[in-house]
Amino acid sequence: MDVVAHGLWGGALFCRRGRRQFFGGLIIGMAPDLLSFGVFHVTHPRWILLRLAGEISGPPAFSILPAYVFYAYNLTHSLVMWAIAFSFLWLFIKRPPWLFGAWLLHILCDIPTHATSYFPTPFLWPFPTPFVNGISWATPEFLLANYSCLIVVYTGIFLYSRKKESLPRN
Ligand SMILES: [Zn+2]
Repeated sequence: MDVVAHGLWGGALFCRRGRRQFFGGLIIGMAPDLLSFGVFHVTHPRWILLRLAGEISGPPAFSILPAYVFYAYNLTHSLVMWAIAFSFLWLFIKRPPWLFGAWLLHILCDIPTHATSYFPTPFLWPFPTPFVNGISWATPEFLLANYSCLIVVYTGIFLYSRKKESLPRN
């Protein structure tokens, strides 16, 4: 799924808990991609400019991606690594780090929305992963359906919070 939609789904999970939790869910929901492809984009501004100018199309070719993108992608898109990090955080802060659920949602959403031809989700890494040949999130149909769902969900959250605010308080 695209990084913006990941962030919005992560934020939607936690927005009922207040603004800080919403932004926490938003950032953590985007983190797996920001820590892998995000680093590449920040360090290759020329690629972004050419992409925006329409001189190149599609995602970055495998040949121009540095090795760290592949390592970071494995690390950030693994349910195994997520479970280890979640457990350590839980031990460290002495309560379940629920916001980290936005990261889990990111991985779960990526599994069926990546084709095996380009970065299928290595959800069992470092163990052998039976890659899922999913529907690419970049197809116009999927983008339309995904953002339509996001609009419905955020409208529902907005209407629910307005209704709650209008109820008389004791
Ligand atoms: Zn991802």
